[in-house]
Amino acid sequence: MTEAQVSTLISAPELASKIRELGARIAADHPGKPIHLLGVLKGSFIFMADLARAIPAEVSCDFLRVTSYKGTQSTGDVRFDMDLSEPIAGRITVLVEDIVDTGTTMDSLLRVLRARNPEKLLVCSLLQKPSRTKVKVPIDYLGFTIPDRFVVGYGLDYDGRFRNLPYVGVVEGM
Ligand code: 5GP
Repeated sequence: MTEAQVSTLISAPELASKIRELGARIAADHPGKPIHLLGVLKGSFIFMADLARAIPAEVSCDFLRVTSYKGTQSTGDVRFDMDLSEPIAGRITVLVEDIVDTGTTMDSLLRVLRARNPEKLLVCSLLQKPSRTKVKVPIDYLGFTIPDRFVVGYGLDYDGRFRNLPYVGVVEGM
């Protein structure tokens, strides 16, 4: 599969402009407060890097990696493959995701993180597929809603590939 088989859904300038807007909103909603970003690996790493630089405030960053199990229940369960390196208790915490699809991963993750007593736990997702929602999760800061297509680029992969595309695209034939 070559790069030519990926068609652009959201261009690099559109991403940059939206991320500037999200960063400004996050800072404006918490004047004078430090913001702690939690990136969900691997898909959020590029979004998180740009978002962190778009927030005109004191920002710290941590990362986690989870595997979600989607069984017969409406909510899944998550296993931490890599946990956070610092406590989030008492901090204004923003969970940074690449995409909310059915919502099961985010829902499970929020439950685990809420139990760690952050001052605030907010969600910032670059993308959401509303037509796929199974579990409603609060997305405080959303980049774009997209149709039910499998997307790659800007951190999102297909079988480990395409994360480095500077835009979000659709793999043709999927
Ligand atoms: P959910 O638990 O919301 O159904 O799934 C969220 C996860 O599924 C995302 O973090 C991402 O890893 C994966 N995912 C869902 N839709 C897509 C997509 O269109 N492209 C890619 N690359 N991953 C997706």
